[in-house]
Amino acid sequence: MDSFGIYLHVPYCKAKCRYCDFYSAPGARGVPQSYVDALLRELRFPHRQPDTVYFGGGTPALLSPAQVKALIQAADPLPGAEITLEANPDTVTPESLAGFREAGVTRISFGVQSADDAQLRRLGRTHTAAGAAEALRMAQAAGFPEICGDIMLALPHYTKAEFDATLDLLQQGGCTHISAYLLKIEPGTAFAKFPPEGLPTADEAADFYLYAVQRLESAGYTQYEISNFAQPGHEGRHNLLYWNCRDYWGIGPAAHSCLQNVRRYWPDDVQGFISGALQEQEEGRCDAEDFLLMQLRLTQGLDLEEYARWGGHCTPAQMDFLRRCAANGYAVFSGQRVRLTPAGMVVQNAILEALL
Ligand code: SF4
Repeated sequence: MDSFGIYLHVPYCKAKCRYCDFYSAPGARGVPQSYVDALLRELRFPHRQPDTVYFGGGTPALLSPAQVKALIQAADPLPGAEITLEANPDTVTPESLAGFREAGVTRISFGVQSADDAQLRRLGRTHTAAGAAEALRMAQAAGFPEICGDIMLALPHYTKAEFDATLDLLQQGGCTHISAYLLKIEPGTAFAKFPPEGLPTADEAADFYLYAVQRLESAGYTQYEISNFAQPGHEGRHNLLYWNCRDYWGIGPAAHSCLQNVRRYWPDDVQGFISGALQEQEEGRCDAEDFLLMQLRLTQGLDLEEYARWGGHCTPAQMDFLRRCAANGYAVFSGQRVRLTPAGMVVQNAILEALL
């Protein structure tokens, strides 16, 4: 049977980071039991046993280990399932990490972002670099088989030395998986209202991205998606469901689902979700164009035969465009499979625009 994942959204955070446009309520010290009960209410609907469960946020590490355990039991994962929990370095303790591990979490993912304390303050993060190193050390001691770290690239006044120091911190902390994202100034964020000084230009940001890919690869983290890198065998199974257009069920305000190619989402209204008044909305069908968009994020690329099974077809003009991308170093194209190189990933939007 095809893989299936469950995503549980936890829209609570200690504070709002200045770049963040995720749906989350700042000022939280924990997650109200009424919210956990609402997730449990949804999980009582009959469902397939998932291969992956993902606690995303927000800051899911604000859940107590007992709350996490109850949610995992209700999700009823298959043996050997990947169970991920996102955390911030200053929301965990040795006790909470041991509790999450005991509850069944196999993969802990820390938003580390930078090893520079001045940068962390500028971003509105509430932890320090030393706090991140300590959290990673505690996660290793708690015995998580998978430890993930996020790095943000092209931050204000960014340097390659800042990237190197952050990569060192994650490597020394035993990270098996690293996500490296370019900072984007999203509408509605504090950074959109008060743009920080010293932002790199688009060309400088592209150079930082290419530098990060090369440094991560030489440190043993193989790129498998635009922003994701893993030691062999440590790729994130849950996010691969999204990029391979497999079924996933998202629960909670602002969570998205795609089941049997039908996409749905929950509006971002936490009180409506808790009360049970909120209704999931249908977004449309996942089609060949979505499949192409998702597959070109992955370094494995798009198989044209599989694309055809989704009803997709490349015209002679599109085939010619792909050959030109390959000739200019933006793609590798065998005639049967096309995959973007790191240089192609930098200009992925322009490639997709030309292609679609
Ligand atoms: S970046 Fe993470 S911790 Fe910061 S506000 Fe957004 S969801 Fe919360």
